[in-house]
Amino acid sequence: MEKIGFIGLGNMGMPMAQNLISNGIKVKGFDVSEEVLKQASENNIMVCSDALQVSKEIDVLITMLPNGEAVSNVFNSESLLENIDPSILIIECSTISPKTSKELSLKASSLNLEMIDAPVSGGVKGAEEASLTFMVGGSVENVEKAKPILSKMGKNIFHAGDSGSGQVAKLCNNMLLAIHMCGTAETIAMGVNNGLDPAILSEIMKNSSGGNWSLEKYNPFPGVMKEVPSSNDYSGGFLNSLMLKDLNLAEELATQSESDTPMGKLAKALYEELNNQGLESLDFSSIQKNYLD
Ligand code: NAD
Repeated sequence: MEKIGFIGLGNMGMPMAQNLISNGIKVKGFDVSEEVLKQASENNIMVCSDALQVSKEIDVLITMLPNGEAVSNVFNSESLLENIDPSILIIECSTISPKTSKELSLKASSLNLEMIDAPVSGGVKGAEEASLTFMVGGSVENVEKAKPILSKMGKNIFHAGDSGSGQVAKLCNNMLLAIHMCGTAETIAMGVNNGLDPAILSEIMKNSSGGNWSLEKYNPFPGVMKEVPSSNDYSGGFLNSLMLKDLNLAEELATQSESDTPMGKLAKALYEELNNQGLESLDFSSIQKNYLD
């Protein structure tokens, strides 16, 4: 039976690890938060005292960390790469800069280690329901090796290209997500300001040429859709702080590749404003607040 090491058991990592366990896989885990570790042990994860201990006697190592700094800390500062067994496949699922991701995988391959980047889309709900989309960068062989594991946590697995390509695809997706969420929020507000019912307007646009994912699955206007953050005071979901992190990474990528992204820059400015209002812990659909009285 396969044994998996999991580092970073937060909002996404914990339900992903739980889906592995419910498929009969043994999971060892580590997180810097004591509270998270307590929850992990209640969820049948074998809790370890550090990242190095997690990497012993496992077949696959998965990391799901908040940002590039945490990923670098785990793999470089804590010398994990230098101490890991080459038979272990490393699947790095955090959203980080493609540059950091490529540098890490180059270092891994210089140490004869196998590593892929596999950031996800689908949010906490997707993690809980094992319906995530994985955007994978790395060699064909390693991606094929990872598929049986990834398929226990997600529904769609796309091979985007070489190392770092999964991160490029993820940043393209999230920049577009931010753009259509901002556009959807300001459009519904304009309709409401002109006497329309937000639910009727949303239904019209969803079935017309303005239709998009935010309207179909994640309506930002409170009360239009049940079981989405906008109907729950914008709590849970994908935090404004994480969206801003991704938009900063997207802007960095655009600069490096000399790509013109005026809409991406505007979306970043709007999320910056939202975060500066102290709303960093609300779901990203709370951009709607900017357009409500
Ligand atoms: P989170 O903050 O809830 O979880 C991250 C966990 O990593 C925390 O429990 C934290 O204590 C732990 N951690 C931090 N540094 C560590 C270290 N050095 N060693 C061990 N553990 C450490 O974040 P999340 O929402 O689970 O997101 C994780 C990643 O997934 C991020 O990169 C995010 O951008 C991406 N993502 C999140 C969502 C979402 O909806 N939340 C969706 C898609 C992608």
